[in-house]
Amino acid sequence: MLLMPTDKPLMFNIKIFCRRGFIFELIFVIIVRIYIKRKNDDVNYIILDMEWNQPSGRECLTINGVRLTGEIIQIGAVKLDEDFVAGDVFMSDVKPVFYRKMNSMVKKITGITESDLSQCLGFEQVMNKFFEFCGKEFSIITWGCDDIPMLIENMTVHGMDFSGLPQSYDLQLIFNRQITRGVRQWSLSSAMEMLNIEQKYTLHNALYDAVNTAKIAMRLDLSQGMENYENIMSLVRLRGQKETAGGFENMRCALRDKTMCRQVCPICGSRLRKGEWIESRGKRISLAQCAEHGTLKFVVTAFKDGDKFAACRRVLPASEEMIAQYSEKLAAAR
Ligand SMILES: [Zn+2]
Repeated sequence: MLLMPTDKPLMFNIKIFCRRGFIFELIFVIIVRIYIKRKNDDVNYIILDMEWNQPSGRECLTINGVRLTGEIIQIGAVKLDEDFVAGDVFMSDVKPVFYRKMNSMVKKITGITESDLSQCLGFEQVMNKFFEFCGKEFSIITWGCDDIPMLIENMTVHGMDFSGLPQSYDLQLIFNRQITRGVRQWSLSSAMEMLNIEQKYTLHNALYDAVNTAKIAMRLDLSQGMENYENIMSLVRLRGQKETAGGFENMRCALRDKTMCRQVCPICGSRLRKGEWIESRGKRISLAQCAEHGTLKFVVTAFKDGDKFAACRRVLPASEEMIAQYSEKLAAAR
């Protein structure tokens, strides 16, 4: 049976449609609002680079109880969004008040002169603008470990509270962990060379260096690096740690002491599959693999201590170079 459309149902349908349209519109508006709110609440990653002046030939000043080893004269930054895509940039010169005369070396490296800085804003004003640029929630990424202490020094001498500074990451550590597996320091340009990144801009300009750092960051697995950062830091801290024991009858006893030669990961405590020891001239070396912390190098050295012998034990993250040397020595010893 065919139902003939009448006026009434048609009007009724239009009303429902209008109401539905209204509901859809409402839902759309709510979704957009949530999205915008989320966008504004999103964490930004701020890649920060700074240039600082140093006292020329004279002693560092101590201000507010802090020895000012450098005065920041340029701040550059690149913002990465939550997907680590580069967006806005920030760049400002800073007028120095403590070290106004440019250190000749800094002048040469950065190309910044006294007259460049005479007209620009002071540190506190620039920092306020910088924090505005960073947004509500952000983390800081730097190349190397020098910038954050320098920022804290400068904030302190200007009487600014630095306790609100967010978590910061040293990208060099993530680069080392993911690319070189080593521990040495890399300049921006050598890291770029290693990753085949074209070097278009001059170095030692805060913005260009931040842009270059961002290029490196975008080649790494940043989210993994940040998640794993505590582990990376634990591995870095291992470098300064050693354990000693004494009272051994002879060098051989000291070198082969069970406690000194235990192959346990010093970070997570995992018992590792024993690696072979290579022994030469008062030193014993072995590599072992921790599933979580990678290849570790165990070094035991022995030395004379009065009429007895003592042993020193160190555990380090093994670089590619160390692993290659170890395999070579192992092959030669067989
Ligand atoms: Zn471990």
